[in-house]
Amino acid sequence: MNMDEFTKVTDKYHFKCTSCGRCCTGGQKVFLNLYDLFKLGRYHKYESSRMLFDAWRVVLVKDQNQAYLPRIRFKLKPFQFCPYLLNIDADPDTFRTKCSLHPDNKPLICFLAPLGRVIDLDREIDEYLYINPAPDCPGIESDKENMLSAAVSEFEQELKFQYRFFKILKKAADNELSRQAYLEDIYYFDLRQDFETILAGKENF
Ligand code: SF4
Ligand code: SF4
Repeated sequence: MNMDEFTKVTDKYHFKCTSCGRCCTGGQKVFLNLYDLFKLGRYHKYESSRMLFDAWRVVLVKDQNQAYLPRIRFKLKPFQFCPYLLNIDADPDTFRTKCSLHPDNKPLICFLAPLGRVIDLDREIDEYLYINPAPDCPGIESDKENMLSAAVSEFEQELKFQYRFFKILKKAADNELSRQAYLEDIYYFDLRQDFETILAGKENF
């Protein structure tokens, strides 16, 4: 993805989600940070985040920066879609969907859309770009005004967790961790612990 193609959001932006569900289907990629894994594991009542991988709910994929990231595994039949997507109204005229993880367990990337956060620790960049959630997302046509500052304030704690996660990823890249080491040192953890304890442990891997 070439970040130069996207508009930087400094505060005001226009958007209103219509719950059409298009960004939850097809080739969309839902990457998870450590706190997302924590929420998802607890949602499934697992004792360990490892069970998300063992049950193939989450897969580990290499991103463009060669880091291994967890991603929700979409179902492939009868079409590609996120397994947490619920169809709440099948009428084609009023078709609407709902995320079964909303609001308490929804991944941050889904909450923030159309804002895409870009963190580059080497260049000290932490900014937001306007990224269409799906190629045919109707939400981008809306003239509803939103403020970046409101979104940042609403998700303040999760954004801080995400920043710390990126620092862990940088350390992993600097140490050239293997795929297995990413799993064992970063993504596997005991879900019976509180998240701050888990995160602090991962920062010291
Ligand atoms: S494609 Fe756009 S309008 Fe549709 S659910 Fe996703 S964000 Fe909302
Ligand atoms: S987690 Fe929810 S919002 Fe995100 S892609 Fe899946 S159904 Fe859509």
